[in-house]
Amino acid sequence: MPNPFENAMTQLNKVAKIKNFSDEFIAHLHEPNKIKKILIPIKMDDGSEKAFEGYRVQYNDALGPYKGGIRYHPLTEINEVKALAFWMTLKCAVADIPMGGGKGGITVDPKNLSKGELERLSRGWVRGLSDILGPHKDVPAPDVNTTPEIMAWMADEYAKITGDKTGATFTGKPINVGGSLGRENATGLGGFYVFNSLREQIKLPKKCTIAIQGFGNVGGHAARIFTENGHTVIAVSDSKSAIFKKDGLDLKKVEAHKKKTGGLKNFEDAKNITNEELLELPCDLLVPAAFENVITDANASKIKAKAILELANGPLTPEADEILFKNNIPIIPDILANSGGVTVSYFEWEQNLKQEHWTEKEVFKKLKQKMEKASKEMLEKAKEYKTSLRMGAFILALERIQQKML
Ligand code: NAD
Repeated sequence: MPNPFENAMTQLNKVAKIKNFSDEFIAHLHEPNKIKKILIPIKMDDGSEKAFEGYRVQYNDALGPYKGGIRYHPLTEINEVKALAFWMTLKCAVADIPMGGGKGGITVDPKNLSKGELERLSRGWVRGLSDILGPHKDVPAPDVNTTPEIMAWMADEYAKITGDKTGATFTGKPINVGGSLGRENATGLGGFYVFNSLREQIKLPKKCTIAIQGFGNVGGHAARIFTENGHTVIAVSDSKSAIFKKDGLDLKKVEAHKKKTGGLKNFEDAKNITNEELLELPCDLLVPAAFENVITDANASKIKAKAILELANGPLTPEADEILFKNNIPIIPDILANSGGVTVSYFEWEQNLKQEHWTEKEVFKKLKQKMEKASKEMLEKAKEYKTSLRMGAFILALERIQQKML
């Protein structure tokens, strides 16, 4: 399995060859400001005690307090968290929000825990790290397998420990405890706004056929939003299986089928395919919305989609990126494509600090403006340096960070 942090650093070294950033600046960005690893002992329901490994990586705070999600996954380890924290730094800069980059995680399969165990674990993560968190220090958010309910437990634990009543240390909270309207579908919607801003530029038709890998928070909402806007989702997948229907899937029925059977398999007359086959389907747009490193040098040359919208973080290895660039398949990079989530998280933080409650319409209007502006600026950089959209986004972000670090 490729090391995601090495991939991230390969991207950084590549951009340093395209634009002349100072060596000191690039060297600085090769290491996070702080890494904190903790052991979280919790009481299990059967009375035994078990300890889980937890992390927080604070990568760079030149633009503002560290910001980034917390991932619960059995494969989560420090290199993954470091890579995600690095990408968060760039993501906030591309979206032009006054926050830095961080990321956290716990090595755990939450499906193996009861609700009580999950709550004790989540509260334990906060107890172990509360000294480095805070509305003006580090503001975590949800990521894979961390729900609004988990964020509410964490915000509550933080308030108990510190007495902070703003609620602004954690974002992605449920609405009734200070969450922002629109946060839940913000990543998918942000991705759609970015896609719409760039669609003509990347020569895609008004009505696209779309294959989406991952049917969770991001992929599920993206599938619905693209369909509502006249596009046709022909394939979706989860960790267990994938389904394909040439004329398009009825997503409401797919959701009901998943709820009833626990998976996507054997949905009506759709074809059961593998996750690998989904990635290689002929379609207008491929949307990886699950995990990193799913497109590598082993399958990049088999991709038949006309363009890729990276809603997952780091779904392509640098080798795959090169192959697709040579094959003229435009890639809308993760650090812009999925920045809608952190942008609305930032809106939530702002609302909490100002004690305001914005309507969903206001949130979406502000999100659209941010995504359209960032898309335009990324495109300009890519054109100016005659490079890929990803490198354009990196240049845009690094210029903003460097300016603050001088
Ligand atoms: P999620 O847990 O809600 O959903 C993940 C989906 O991927 C699930 O449908 C799961 O079944 C599927 N999946 C898991 N392993 C898979 C595999 N090996 N192959 C195919 N599918 C698999 O997580 P999410 O919040 O939707 O996050 C998905 C991606 O988007 C991650 O890369 C995450 O970092 C990124 N992201 C999330 C947000 C957010 O707001 N949640 C914001 C920015 C980026």
